[in-house]
Amino acid sequence: MKQTLTRPGAPSLWIDMAGAAPQADAPVSTGAPLERDLSVEVAVIGAGYSGLSAAYALQKRGVQTVVLDANPVGWGASGRNGGVVSSKFRLSFPAIERLHGLETAKTMHRLAHDGVRVVEQFIDEFKLDRARFEHTGSLRCAHTERAFTSIRAEAEWVKQKLGDTTMTVQSRAEVEHETGSKAFVGGVLSSDAGTILPLEYVRGLAAGLTRRKVDIYESTPVLEMIRSDGSGGVTLRTPNGTVRAKQVIVGTNAYSNLTPATAAYQRELVPFRSAMIATERLPAGLDDRLMVERRSYAETRRMMKWFRKVDGRMLFGGRDAFGKEGQTAGFDALERAMVELFPDLAGVRVEYQWSGYVGMTFNSLPHVGRSDGDTTFCLGYNGAGVAMASLLGQHAAALALGEKPELSLLAAPGLNPVPFHSLRAPGVRLVAGWYQFLDALGV
Ligand SMILES: Cc1cc2nc3c(=O)[nH]c(=O)nc-3n(C[C@H](O)[C@H](O)[C@H](O)COP(=O)(O)OP(=O)(O)OC[C@H]3O[C@@H](n4cnc5c(N)ncnc54)[C@H](O)[C@@H]3O)c2cc1C
Repeated sequence: MKQTLTRPGAPSLWIDMAGAAPQADAPVSTGAPLERDLSVEVAVIGAGYSGLSAAYALQKRGVQTVVLDANPVGWGASGRNGGVVSSKFRLSFPAIERLHGLETAKTMHRLAHDGVRVVEQFIDEFKLDRARFEHTGSLRCAHTERAFTSIRAEAEWVKQKLGDTTMTVQSRAEVEHETGSKAFVGGVLSSDAGTILPLEYVRGLAAGLTRRKVDIYESTPVLEMIRSDGSGGVTLRTPNGTVRAKQVIVGTNAYSNLTPATAAYQRELVPFRSAMIATERLPAGLDDRLMVERRSYAETRRMMKWFRKVDGRMLFGGRDAFGKEGQTAGFDALERAMVELFPDLAGVRVEYQWSGYVGMTFNSLPHVGRSDGDTTFCLGYNGAGVAMASLLGQHAAALALGEKPELSLLAAPGLNPVPFHSLRAPGVRLVAGWYQFLDALGV
């Protein structure tokens, strides 16, 4: 496709913090496009958390693997996100139990926490100190009494039914002390969560894989997937070379429509634009008062905003379905929302604005499965993919090798035959508008 395939990442705080180049200690096999024909056992498309974690699992099993990305490592959501490492799904555990029974809720609960364990394992194994993972927990801040009652009940349910004691209720005063905002009536702290520098994390994964001799070709869009007739396997055509592979893993998530070769995977998703802003360094008085425990924080509104502090700056994010990536729409609204919650930030300058696409799914859960005998995919993290994509990439690798990891509700029977494309843009706007209306009413 056209020139939009390769372009610099959004000018984010992460890019400035990490520097333009990969980590200095990374041997440089990343960065180069593919310029020859080669054969491997498994080819992975996408060098975000999904693809790289799949490549890691394959490398661990001694499977010859190559990773191809149309862009630099972490150009997609993995290099742009808020860096909140969470152990939950968008669908709550009580809702999972109501719909699918207690045993399923227990398995899903374990999978959610497995995601955090995988992040920890990568940090240790690849020595990713620069990613600054902090297991500080995540505080959900209730914007109304009704929302507070609901998240309190959920914390109690998780404790009683799943034996999970990592969620604790915080009073209005405690939330005010922690966040520095008077806007909340209480909250629930999940201690098995944390924060990370997302771009450092994804680059660190790539560097670790490169050290282990996994080739990662950047600026290498897969333009076509050609099925072999009869003999099995797939040939991936890229601008200057081909890869012949017995199996392919697709980790392209909300950017799947970069080329027609992977566009079918977008059918599983409703891509939603998610935007972030970061302020200048806060003056000392404010820095001491806001978000003193350095956790991640999220509101209970449907069109949820989240925030955290990084290097003395306030980071504030939210989903904004109303503009295309690269447009400024949404950033002003985000700044207004930030000042509403933190009036003291009124005079503080916003220095960074960036956005990216998250892959939402209609059942609010990620999907991992085989799209045919040669191809496996994982996607649809619903805005919570740092831990989950790190986990599901590994499960996708296992599926590709014919193993049967326990996936519970995350198992997708195949690619959705019904494209959501036609309903997508207007549908997303409609739902987002409705949610904003309900949030404004406080219901
Ligand atoms: C602004 C924002 C904030 C977020 N905040 C959080 C958060 O705080 N916590 C959290 O857990 N999650 C968050 N998320 C979600 C999280 O970032 C994603 O779920 C996760 O990064 C998905 O990783 P991935 O590897 O599946 O996809 P991506 O990281 O998007 O990678 C997909 C890659 O595929 C490549 N690609 C696509 N098509 C092709 C092709 N045909 N050929 C070759 N390459 C191709 C792209 O170039 C891209 O690099 C956020 C997302 C955004 C956008």
